[in-house]
Amino acid sequence: MKYALVTGGSRGIGRAVCIKLAEMGYHVLINYLSNRDEALLTLEEVKKTGSDGTLLPFDVTKVEEVEKTMGGWQEQNSDAYIEVLVNNAGIRKDTLLMWMENSHWHDVLNTNLNSFFYVTRAVLKNMLVNKYGRIINVVSLSGLKGLPGQVNYSAAKAGVIGATKALAQEIGKKRVTVNAVAPGFIKTDMTKELNENELKNLIPLNRFGLPEEVADVVCFLASEKASYITGEVISVNGGLYT
Ligand code: NAP
Repeated sequence: MKYALVTGGSRGIGRAVCIKLAEMGYHVLINYLSNRDEALLTLEEVKKTGSDGTLLPFDVTKVEEVEKTMGGWQEQNSDAYIEVLVNNAGIRKDTLLMWMENSHWHDVLNTNLNSFFYVTRAVLKNMLVNKYGRIINVVSLSGLKGLPGQVNYSAAKAGVIGATKALAQEIGKKRVTVNAVAPGFIKTDMTKELNENELKNLIPLNRFGLPEEVADVVCFLASEKASYITGEVISVNGGLYT
């Protein structure tokens, strides 16, 4: 049995990734924060592929919770190891820096950046011991370009991009790759209040992307086909950046 962990797997991009990893034959550990009903829907879709999954709720911002849950899972599955990790859980709390409160800054940094450290550290050792692993971080156009109103989110995602490049160099010799995928505007709950009709004019492909279009790239990077790619950031943004 091959295992993959997807943080924020209950909805949006994370759900699409869970389903595609299941199609690749992975038993998918579906992490989420509180939305059990949505996580159960992901699990149902995972099972439809003929593969299987496990719900693994924990708050990616709480290091003790991450370690306790991951440690508990490993104890109960002592022969198993997680060979694919997708750090996908994320939030945004947009406001101009002038008006940004401490909680806007810390919540976004904790969820998008510190989570990378906590969750990756918890699963990395077994990847190194087994000399194979795939880590894919879901970042954002904001982390490459910087977007006004998102100084907190841009800083967090840019932080993950730096971490991706550094970690890739640390562990390449152990056949563990680390890459990032940077979506633009994707149709999920995170963007549901945005006006696609207006914003699509900025996008060369003239529409928002679908979660599945991001998941395809994540899953390519998770596959053996991506064996010579590490430390990279791949944009999935309809041409918006250029
Ligand atoms: P979404 O639909 O809002 O889903 C967010 C997911 O993250 C949910 O599964 C949620 O769990 C989980 N989550 C949030 N806080 C968490 C925490 N503290 N601990 C554990 N899980 C937590 O988001 P999305 O649009 O799919 O975004 C997924 C990733 O893509 C994020 O990193 C986001 O920054 C990035 N991204 C998205 C877009 C876009 O246009 N949508 C663009 C660029 C980058 P619950 O269901 O339990 O709340």
